[in-house]
Amino acid sequence: MNRRKSLSREGAPKRLAKGGSSKQMKEEIPVLKGKTKKELEELCVSLGLEKYRAAQIYTGIYKSRYTNLDQFTTLSKEAREKLKQHTSFPEIELGRDLASKEDGTRKFTFYVGENKEIEAVWIPSGDGGRKTICISSQIGCTLNCKFCATGLLEYKGNLHTWQILDQILQVERLVGDRATNIVFMGMGEPMHNYFSVMKAAHILRDQEGFGLGALRITISTAGVTTGINRFIENKEPFNFAISLNHPNPNSRSSIMDVNDKHPLDKLVESAKRFTKELDRAITFEYVMIPDVNMGRDNAERLAKISRSVNKCKINVIPLNTDFTGWRRPTDDEVKDFVMHLKAKTTAPILNRRSPGRDINGACGMLALKGIRSETR
Ligand code: SAH
Repeated sequence: MNRRKSLSREGAPKRLAKGGSSKQMKEEIPVLKGKTKKELEELCVSLGLEKYRAAQIYTGIYKSRYTNLDQFTTLSKEAREKLKQHTSFPEIELGRDLASKEDGTRKFTFYVGENKEIEAVWIPSGDGGRKTICISSQIGCTLNCKFCATGLLEYKGNLHTWQILDQILQVERLVGDRATNIVFMGMGEPMHNYFSVMKAAHILRDQEGFGLGALRITISTAGVTTGINRFIENKEPFNFAISLNHPNPNSRSSIMDVNDKHPLDKLVESAKRFTKELDRAITFEYVMIPDVNMGRDNAERLAKISRSVNKCKINVIPLNTDFTGWRRPTDDEVKDFVMHLKAKTTAPILNRRSPGRDINGACGMLALKGIRSETR
């Protein structure tokens, strides 16, 4: 723990951009990527193009996955020229591409501007059935959870919808495959970039967009209750996860600053409201840290919270990072914790595997550079 304290944000290594600024778009030039069909319609009309062109542009971006405007051959040449003149069709810039030697995981670093790095991870399941991309929603994170490497980075802002979606477009192109599932569990707090995240999720879900079902998309929060409540009020159709990580208010505050502003009791209230009003299960994520949150009393309190929420699942995740001075639990410690939990709750408990640890691509490791041996 003491070691973690000495790692201030200022002390985090500076990242070097590999160019990037030339790809930064001036605000006044509309970016085609990231727009909804309605927004494209408005854009077409403002450019003097027929409204129905919007559907062709929309399909070209998200379904046909065109990478430059010349590929949009359903449009007239004049329309293409107009779009070239008055809009932009940018890409985030690929930096590192690391492949795990232990499993099929690949971690990609992208630049979204000078000194602005984000990461996305390709995670195929062992049997090849499920292929997940874990994407970032912000450049760094303001939350500073004590166990998470992203908290060590300087926060550099929200991602635009197009930068969120471009992670998926590029990762799929680089691995030569399509994802079956998307999780907003990379860098950042999705509820702090609510509007851009939800817009991206709706384009991902849309049959004429990426065509993924809503339940193949999971949005995760460290517990920003205002965002959860908005998600409920908007009746969003996506899977939702809360990173609970400690069942006692004071101890939760000591490892997650977010608990000061959005206290545990309010968080549990929001979770109850979610299951009641949306009639779906909510997922609690629980990073297991020995001597911090793995005691029998912790398991029993977590079970009590799960019983109070109508429908929920619990994902337990062994701590992946070691920069904190904390250690990863042994298999026996995990087994014990899960046993105490199971004794007191009927909620399904998933013991989440942590693929990509060797390339710092597992939960909580995004922002740690390169392969593990380099970072130790
Ligand atoms: N800010 C959002 C989105 C990030 S999700 C959120 O917190 O939910 C990242 C997930 O990885 C969270 O469930 C978090 O609790 C978990 N995590 C963070 N650091 C970890 C670590 N060192 N080991 C294992 N899991 C970790």
